[in-house]
Amino acid sequence: MKTSIGCNTLYPAGRLTSEGQFTLPHQLRALEVIAEAGFDAVEFSHAGHLTPEELQQVAAHARALGLVPWSVHAWRPLAATAADVETTLADYRVAAQTAHLLGVRVVVVHSGGTMAPAGLSERRSANSECLRALAEWVGPKVVVAVENMSARADWEFIIELVDACPLPNVGLNLDTGHAHLGDLGVVNAIRMAGGRLRTTHLQDNLGQQDNHLPPGQGTIRWEEALAAFREVGYTGCYLVELSDCPIGREPDTVGDTRRAAENLRALLAQAGIDR
Ligand SMILES: [Zn+2]
Repeated sequence: MKTSIGCNTLYPAGRLTSEGQFTLPHQLRALEVIAEAGFDAVEFSHAGHLTPEELQQVAAHARALGLVPWSVHAWRPLAATAADVETTLADYRVAAQTAHLLGVRVVVVHSGGTMAPAGLSERRSANSECLRALAEWVGPKVVVAVENMSARADWEFIIELVDACPLPNVGLNLDTGHAHLGDLGVVNAIRMAGGRLRTTHLQDNLGQQDNHLPPGQGTIRWEEALAAFREVGYTGCYLVELSDCPIGREPDTVGDTRRAAENLRALLAQAGIDR
C-alpha cells in the first residue's frame, strides 16, 4: 500500500500574525504550494474563520489538485477549567462543522492545562467533557486526535484521557518537534502512543525551540523515529507541520514545503516505508 505524505497549509504571503489574514485566495495558493512540492494530503491549519461557501471552495480545490483532505487543526485546546468549557464547546461546534465541510478524516486538538496537582482533577474533567463532545459532533467517521507537548507526564495524562473516553473515534497526534524538546523524546512518545496513533505532525528542531523545521533539518533521529512508527503499526498519513510564523527567521513557505517533501521521501525510503 502506498504511504501517504501530507503537509499543513501555510500562509503564502509572509509572516502570519492573525488568522483573518489567511483569506480564500491565500488558502487556494497554500494548497497549490503543497501539491507542487509533491505531497498528496493536507492538514488545514487555519480554516475556522472561513465561511461555509469558502470552505467548500477550499475542499474542491484540494480535490482538484489531487490532495486528500486529511486533517484540520482546531486551535482552542480542550478546556483546562470548568469555567472554560462553555466557550470551548461553542468553538468545537464550529470546528466540527468546518471538518465536515472540508471532508477531513481527523481533527487535531491540544489538551489545555498543566500537571500542577491543584488543578489536575478539574483539568481531567473539563478536558474529558470537551473531548467527548467534539468526538460526538464530528461523527463516527472522523477521529479527534489529541497532540503531545514535551513532557512525559503530560503525555501519560493525555493517553489516560483518550483511553477513558467512551467514544471510539478518539486517538492521538504525535508531534515529533514537541516530543524532542522535553523529557518525552520522540521514540518514547511513539511507543507510548502505540495503536492510538492516528495522525502526525512531523517537524524538526535543535532541541532548544519549537522551530517547525522540515524533517531532517534539526537533531531528531529520523531513522529511529520512523522505525518506531513502523513498530507500532502506524498506517496513517505521514503529515508534516511547518510554520508560517517561525522563530528567529523569516518564513519560507515554498522552500520549506519543498525541502520537507524531498527530505521526507528520502527518509521514508531509507526506513523501508514504501511510497
Ligand atoms: Zn503540532
